[in-house]
Amino acid sequence: MPTIDDEVLPVTPSDEATPFIFKPENRANSLFKTFLYPTQGGIAQPNLAGELRGLYGTPGALAWHPEWSEYLASRPPAKTHWGVDIYAPVGTEIVAVCNGELSYAQQANGLGLYAKLRFTVAGKIYEFHYGHLQAKNGETRSVLKGDVVGYVGCSGNAGVDGICATIPPGLGFSSAHVHFALLPPQTAGAPKRSNPLTVLGWTLAQPIKPAML
Ligand SMILES: [Zn+2]
Repeated sequence: MPTIDDEVLPVTPSDEATPFIFKPENRANSLFKTFLYPTQGGIAQPNLAGELRGLYGTPGALAWHPEWSEYLASRPPAKTHWGVDIYAPVGTEIVAVCNGELSYAQQANGLGLYAKLRFTVAGKIYEFHYGHLQAKNGETRSVLKGDVVGYVGCSGNAGVDGICATIPPGLGFSSAHVHFALLPPQTAGAPKRSNPLTVLGWTLAQPIKPAML
């Protein structure tokens, strides 16, 4: 188990939502190996780590709700979104955002095929979860930041039967995305999740709404 006590900056100990902040040199700059910001004309956005998801729903009933992508978003009827939905085309390579221990798991619905990246800070175990993968990359192992851990897809509830929502002509992008979450140490009274963007010091681009929606 790698320990990275010296690789993070301390924050106020009582701030459970932000247990630490990575030093820039010890975390990846993006969730993806190569990222083209699909709703922004394929142009890279300096100082942004990815793009929020905009499109939700099923084929024939797609709706524009980028606010549902955000951490702790309220979704009807009464659901809290315990992660961040980061959009990328199917098959985009997803990387380890820090050094850690990688493994994979499967939920029939929910996250579908997902990767777990476990690491230790100040003796406490944390995990990043990457949901809705199309495929794994390898098996359980130690990884370094930047190593490819899997590929973007629509498994679980990101699509219908694991298939991405059909892309209407001219729309140019789909329901594919990564549900990205940070689990703090699972002890009694601990918060259920923490904000992965704050811990990584990341800002995401807002998706651009297509004219046809
Ligand atoms: Zn999500």
